[in-house]
Amino acid sequence: MVLPTAPEVAIVGAGAAGIAAARECAALGLSCLVVEAMGRVGGRAFTEDARLGAPFDHGASWLHLADANPLVPLARALGLRLVDSDAVRERRVVVGPRRATPEEVAALEAAMARFDATVAARAAAAADLPLAEAVPRGGFWDATVAHRQGPLISAAELGELSLRDFAANALGPPNLMPEAGVGALVRRLAQGLPIRTGVPVARIRWGGQGVVLDTPEGALAARACVVTVSTGVLGAGGIAFDPPLPQAVREAVAGLPLGLLTKVAFRAAGEDRLDLPPFAALWRRVDSPEEAAMSFHAWPFGRDHLVGFVGGRAAWELARAGPAATEAFAREELARCFGAARVARALRAPAAVVTDWGANPFVRGAYSYARPGCAGARAALAGAALAGGRLRFAGEACHTWLAGTVAGAWESGRAAARAVAAALG
Ligand SMILES: Cc1cc2nc3c(=O)[nH]c(=O)nc-3n(C[C@H](O)[C@H](O)[C@H](O)COP(=O)(O)OP(=O)(O)OC[C@H]3O[C@@H](n4cnc5c(N)ncnc54)[C@H](O)[C@@H]3O)c2cc1C
Repeated sequence: MVLPTAPEVAIVGAGAAGIAAARECAALGLSCLVVEAMGRVGGRAFTEDARLGAPFDHGASWLHLADANPLVPLARALGLRLVDSDAVRERRVVVGPRRATPEEVAALEAAMARFDATVAARAAAAADLPLAEAVPRGGFWDATVAHRQGPLISAAELGELSLRDFAANALGPPNLMPEAGVGALVRRLAQGLPIRTGVPVARIRWGGQGVVLDTPEGALAARACVVTVSTGVLGAGGIAFDPPLPQAVREAVAGLPLGLLTKVAFRAAGEDRLDLPPFAALWRRVDSPEEAAMSFHAWPFGRDHLVGFVGGRAAWELARAGPAATEAFAREELARCFGAARVARALRAPAAVVTDWGANPFVRGAYSYARPGCAGARAALAGAALAGGRLRFAGEACHTWLAGTVAGAWESGRAAARAVAAALG
């Protein structure tokens, strides 16, 4: 493909938001060029096939809220197989080394419902509190539910999260898993688009008539620009802006830092599947929401891999300690349920794939959360219209109710493309 050298729209980043923005530009008849720092497309949607002998998503693996998710019809149109994870998975809950009783599991369901009801009530009534101040406490399962909603799902501690922003997010079922991987789906959706990979944008000049991107391969001039890099990259100054970004945009970015969620993927060494059926979710009871703990997703699609998840402060600490420490922690977590000797026999060693999104300079975390008091930051960043509306921001952090997801990134990319198209007349 001959790539345009002076496109109407320059798009920074070829993750879900950038790819959606490029497709929207094409649909609107605008020429565009996507400039991507990494050597591949997809950003935080990345499927690796090599090390586990089967597709493994380092980042997103579920298409949440399938009935409203724009990626679902696109995946179906490509003929990709999607499995309803909630319909096929068994939730295996453990208390110490034993399985929870049916009564305890019922109590867990009740605690989850109580958490949702309490958050919804406080979000409507109060100022934008830290989520930690609004969660039920003292019940047998309350800390476990809070740990799931904080570190494991939001990738941050409860005290760091805006209650209002958390309550606004519609992360719900059906949760579909593409058999080929979410990263593979996003890569397919990028086919045929004008994308340059391996070209990091160092600076964006937006004070003149158009917008100019400075890269190691020279300057790229465009009439308009959509910036889709993470708020982690924006907040760390990964791209310089000339003139500097207005105070309101900098405040919105500062209000939306990235949390961390790390995956540890093991392969079975033999036939032992730890008595877990394919797609099983393994949860354990915790004593405090801040406890370092993992949950696991077993043998998806009957494959021989088992994936652990750790989020929030524990994930950052383990990332600093390195992949061997993270793998050792995951083994300790499994040993609580199955005993160290069985875990050592059942899983290949030392061969886990440990993701490290925090160290990737072009991402710097997993996905965004809003700090307490910053529930309006997503709308502020998505609505920022610089250079007469010709410079806009998009990405998962810019969606108000699908934040942190591929779907939110996709929709925000489309919206930003439509907005710059309108500004260009
Ligand atoms: C472990 C993990 C699990 C997740 N699970 C799910 C899930 O199950 N379901 C779900 O919906 N979501 C999930 N997510 C979130 C989802 O992956 C993201 O919300 C989404 O992929 C973000 O897309 P984006 O386009 O906003 O950003 P990105 O994917 O980060 O794309 C931005 C792009 O900009 C590029 N870039 C950065 N700096 C520069 C520069 N200077 N010049 C040029 N390019 C640059 C980056 O390399 C990147 O490719 C998960 C994420 C992680 C990390």
